[in-house]
Amino acid sequence: MKDRGILIVVSGFSGAGKGTITREIIQRSGKYALSISATTRAPREGEQEGVHYFYKTREEFERMIADNELLEYAVYQGNYYGTPKAYVLQQLAEGRDVILEIEVQGASKIKAQVPECVRIFVTPPTAEELKRRLMGRGTENQAQILGRMKRAVEEAPYMPLYDHILINDDLDKAIEAFERIVQSEHMKQTFIGEITDELIEIVKGE
Ligand code: 5GP
Repeated sequence: MKDRGILIVVSGFSGAGKGTITREIIQRSGKYALSISATTRAPREGEQEGVHYFYKTREEFERMIADNELLEYAVYQGNYYGTPKAYVLQQLAEGRDVILEIEVQGASKIKAQVPECVRIFVTPPTAEELKRRLMGRGTENQAQILGRMKRAVEEAPYMPLYDHILINDDLDKAIEAFERIVQSEHMKQTFIGEITDELIEIVKGE
């Protein structure tokens, strides 16, 4: 039987580059599935239904919660965001590694649902660098940049919950580190499966 896939939970400060890392990894390797979230926030310019998000009304989202269709959900900036359960569980069962790019509250809940998931927090090497990247985007004004920095202060206490802190200084190096984490997690889970089966066989034969 094929090994189960690994659920990879990626969070990070806004401006840390988590979106770029996950996009690059998916394009370069082709072996990952990306979970598409449901949200009640309105689509931004250029975003598409079913590509970036599944856009829902509050009523639709609350029905998904009531019907237990979400693996996790959170309220972020006044909108609901959640991970549809069926797709993720199906991909994992088929042996594909699935990436969830979600914020810290959702990430802290996911472990209860999928205990063997691996959680990665992406950060720039320094706070100054984070500020520099936010300013460099050129899309935000001073107040928005300060708002994002303040949110980073609120998110920092969640960092110890993550299995790995991925410092995104250089994109290629960050991608290599990501791949190493996933590979090592596969080795761990394969080893656990194999030794458990062997132990059961030995005990049966005694
Ligand atoms: P944005 O509105 O900028 O697309 O996303 C805002 C935040 O919501 C980001 O930190 C993003 O990672 C997070 N997010 C996106 N989808 C989900 C989800 O399904 N669950 C949770 N908990 N957070 C999500």
